[in-house]
Amino acid sequence: MRTPVIAGNWKMNKTATEAVSFCLELRDRVADIDRVDILVCPPFTALKPVADVLDGSRVMVGAQNMYAADEGAYTGEVSPRMLLDAGCSFVILGHSERRQYFGETDRMVNEKVRVALRYGLKPIVCVGESLEQREKGTTTTVVGEQVRNALSGVAAEEAAGLVIAYEPVWAIGTGRTASPKDAQEVNAFIREVVAGLLGASFAGKVCILYGGSVKPDNARDLMSQPDIDGALVGGASLDINSFIGIITATQEVLKT
Ligand code: PEP
Repeated sequence: MRTPVIAGNWKMNKTATEAVSFCLELRDRVADIDRVDILVCPPFTALKPVADVLDGSRVMVGAQNMYAADEGAYTGEVSPRMLLDAGCSFVILGHSERRQYFGETDRMVNEKVRVALRYGLKPIVCVGESLEQREKGTTTTVVGEQVRNALSGVAAEEAAGLVIAYEPVWAIGTGRTASPKDAQEVNAFIREVVAGLLGASFAGKVCILYGGSVKPDNARDLMSQPDIDGALVGGASLDINSFIGIITATQEVLKT
């Protein structure tokens, strides 16, 4: 049985002060949620203050990116050791905005995945096709390649805690969501690819999320799919009521 993960990717939103006041309320309002793993991924500047207020609560903290080196002369970058020290247990890697605006390649994502795992940070590896690729019918080719490249050289024994997020690029921040059936098909395909790489037992345990315009009113249908184990939520995670609505819908699916 996989525990679903609802992760909020705040992108470049919320100051540390705003993030802390959001998390104080979140912490109290999700205190009774017991079947969903909840995660917020604030900008770097808010990680430590957010982790401090969430300490001892059910809500975990993740970063949105990291650099694949221990330390050194990499101006502007943040290392896995710094993320751990700030209270992170997860890190989003290979988000499509990183790939699109900051030139992240599959090779860079793979390096980051390997370093994150070495440090005991759980990577949330984002994969997904563009609209053009979907229209050309190459979704599974593209996504399969991204998953294989991201996990190249990773063994099942060192990949504990790995999470994969299927995020069709055309659905991110656009209000367009993949239908539950389409998202289920790709998530099931990703699980098969993971089984080929890391074995069926690992693949049966790995959480594969869906991301792309998830909202309280579409969460239930998406989360009811057998291979969708939660959501990576952008826009709707910035609003406390929407974020809690998605968490609650997920918990309710598990009870039905
Ligand atoms: C994201 O950025 O990971 C995302 C899924 O964004 P949104 O929910 O806004 O589409």
